[in-house]
Amino acid sequence: MNEGKRHIAILGSTGSIGTQALDIIRRYPERFEVELLAANRNVDLLAAQAREFDANHVVICDESRYEALSQALEGSDSKVFAGAESLCALVAAEGVDIVVGAMVGFSGLRPTLAALEAGKIVALANKETLVAAGAIVTKCAAAHNAPILPVDSEHSAIFQCLMAAAGNKVEKIHLTASGGPFRSWPKERIAAATAAQALKHPNWEMGAKVTIDSSTMMNKGFEVIEAKWLFDLPPEKIHVVVHPDSIVHSMVEMSDGAVLAQLSCPDMRQPIGFALGFPERLPFDGKRLDFAALGTLHFEEPDLDRFPCLALAYEAIRRGGNIPCALNAANEVAVKAFLEGRIGFYDIPRLCEGVFSGVDFAAEPSLDEIFATDRKARALAAEKIR
Ligand code: MG
Repeated sequence: MNEGKRHIAILGSTGSIGTQALDIIRRYPERFEVELLAANRNVDLLAAQAREFDANHVVICDESRYEALSQALEGSDSKVFAGAESLCALVAAEGVDIVVGAMVGFSGLRPTLAALEAGKIVALANKETLVAAGAIVTKCAAAHNAPILPVDSEHSAIFQCLMAAAGNKVEKIHLTASGGPFRSWPKERIAAATAAQALKHPNWEMGAKVTIDSSTMMNKGFEVIEAKWLFDLPPEKIHVVVHPDSIVHSMVEMSDGAVLAQLSCPDMRQPIGFALGFPERLPFDGKRLDFAALGTLHFEEPDLDRFPCLALAYEAIRRGGNIPCALNAANEVAVKAFLEGRIGFYDIPRLCEGVFSGVDFAAEPSLDEIFATDRKARALAAEKIR
């Protein structure tokens, strides 16, 4: 860690998590310095962020936009780069202390590994990285003494509860789920749901991919896999409970029956700030809970019949190896097709399930096998859509 200020790299700075991370950094100029900003293709916002935060390095992953970004940053001190390889080299550079992994999907895997190999602190929002290659990523983190701090609100909650558990035995964790926009809809109505309806999340403002994943509950399934790797727990000990209020962000049940929970208003800047300031809590003037105004909190069992993606994710963990990677790849292709109006809502789980049986099983996949599985599953899913 550099002396004094923490030097931050944000991968996916123009997305929902990225912009909120910058909002936290904006509030604490005496604590943080923006070293690197990276985005996929949003040149205008990336250039504006680079100028505001005086970022040393700026990476546009889509190489065809390099010229546009260079022009937009002409006359600034920021050095401009393009492509995934540059990104991997820059996150590992000496000037970086904390890497915020907020890219969408499988594309986050390589830069996350590059950061961990260089021993950086990784504040991880990109759960697909752990879904696709959890064994490799956690092994890499341990080998290089690189901490992974969860940014996903549920996992941040569990992490905070585990701090309070002080090393005592955990019986299970309760991962809360909002249930998404279709929680109370009958199955026939969900079957006809459009992308526009799925994008209206009741409690959280998030990017399109994770919002669709929330509506199918694949997001919760991925979070079970994410929790398994982050907290080294078998899936039987990871229980999902629907909590439409999104106030309790998750709970840890101890061996004496006591349950530790973390509560706050649903605002991603809370878990992001917690990861950036860790182990110190940064004061944050977001909305506070008013328990009397809340009155009641609600909990219910998830419905696997209406939300088969959650069951698929449990099935993927049970099979293990490269199967969660295949599930993630198929889901990415299916979600994109659903957003484009090319397939229906329940085609998402149908496609994902079909892809399971189409990939060759590898019990302990190497990184190359993970990339091969990803490619194969995407090709299979695309073929099924046609
Ligand atoms: Mg979450």
